[in-house]
Amino acid sequence: MKVLVATSETQGQRGSDLFFAEEGELVTFVPECEHELHDIDDSCGCMRTMIGLDTTGLTTTMKVLDLDMTRDVLEDKLRHRYEVSGWAAFMTTEALDEQLEEDMRALTEIAKQFSPGAVIEKRGDEFEVRELH
Ligand SMILES: [Zn+2]
Repeated sequence: MKVLVATSETQGQRGSDLFFAEEGELVTFVPECEHELHDIDDSCGCMRTMIGLDTTGLTTTMKVLDLDMTRDVLEDKLRHRYEVSGWAAFMTTEALDEQLEEDMRALTEIAKQFSPGAVIEKRGDEFEVRELH
């Protein structure tokens, strides 16, 4: 299945780039704060970053890969992240399941729009391909 992983490729193309994740780890969404309060490239970074599922390091550059893994593996990793981050403790089982379903749908939806190997960036709600130089 197509998934999004962290990559340091094309880091530096934007002055606001950051990369604290590990190359190749699966990523998911970062909760965004109030959009109207700030700009995509500001110091907060919530509108341009994704978070590594293993390291919880942030990255502004992601890569689409077609990996030999099942949806269950990704879902388990997402669930684990909610558990270790403490969020799961504040959610009912139903709410967590719903959240996981939504995350899975959004992640796979984004990944399937791009070709494997594409390096992409998040600009608010939009995901765009970066040119490889
Ligand atoms: Zn923010």
